[in-house]
Amino acid sequence: MPYRKSAEHGAWCACAWTLSILSGIVSCGSSSAAPSAPPFDEARAWTHMKEMVALGPRPAASEELERARAYIVRELESYGLTPVVENFRSETPEGELSFANVYADIGPGDAPLVVLTTHIDTKRFDWHFVGANDSGSGTAVLLELARALAPVSARPVTYRVLFVDGEESIRETWIDPDNRYGSRHHVAELERTGEIRRVAACVLIDLIGDKDLRLSHETLSNPELLKIFFRAAREAGLGAHVDGPRREIKDDHLSFMSANIPSVDLIDFEYGPNNAYWHDKRDTLENVSAASLGIAGRIVLAGLPGLEAWVLKN
Ligand SMILES: [Zn+2]
Repeated sequence: MPYRKSAEHGAWCACAWTLSILSGIVSCGSSSAAPSAPPFDEARAWTHMKEMVALGPRPAASEELERARAYIVRELESYGLTPVVENFRSETPEGELSFANVYADIGPGDAPLVVLTTHIDTKRFDWHFVGANDSGSGTAVLLELARALAPVSARPVTYRVLFVDGEESIRETWIDPDNRYGSRHHVAELERTGEIRRVAACVLIDLIGDKDLRLSHETLSNPELLKIFFRAAREAGLGAHVDGPRREIKDDHLSFMSANIPSVDLIDFEYGPNNAYWHDKRDTLENVSAASLGIAGRIVLAGLPGLEAWVLKN
């Protein structure tokens, strides 16, 4: 691991985090939590998801995705953050297309970087695929996480909230390199600029809106990171929503893993009976819930103190 920080500083921060996060969970949306960690507001996340779905299909290089990005930028700015739009072009099976990631950093410019990421594009089909869960849910939860994390000042790491374009393949099947355009580009940029040396971990969220939310045990993920989030969920009373079936899922975390960044995919890959709603007409608002967005957001927040301690230790 490239980063070490003052152990006593890290331990203090992790402790403060744990207390404030737990108070956030207990108060469950009320304003009584410590100001250092505003609780995750699932109603706000739900609003974001409805906005995404209302745009309709949002495949890479579409006007609708451009509108989604504009919405994300406006939201991040409203939290006092400074979003960066990372434009690039890439060859695809349909020729060269324009893509753009959006990211914003929360924390000091010299601390270890922890990337919290999701994809914002929807898979292109020749029918009306609105992608409530895939990828409205990740977009919604990551935006609300950004709002919750933005005001916290004392923290041993910097969080980069990264909304990537082009996770979905342009062709119907997900065959490399026709997928992960945005995360691959972002990692290539981190390597080109040398910033990769700051990156300590990547936490990917994807498909976390399912009404019957239970995060899969994703076997490509770093097992220690997965354990940190699942343990935190159990300790927060959310154990019923983790430890799902063991599944190997190829997703944006592979781009970070290829640069030796420890990465975890928090994903529920059982959407509807036998995953029947995934990439299907039934991926609509009726089959996702605000409650699940709230659970997913709280699991991420609950796991961050442990993740921070892990980053400082490694
Ligand atoms: Zn998908």
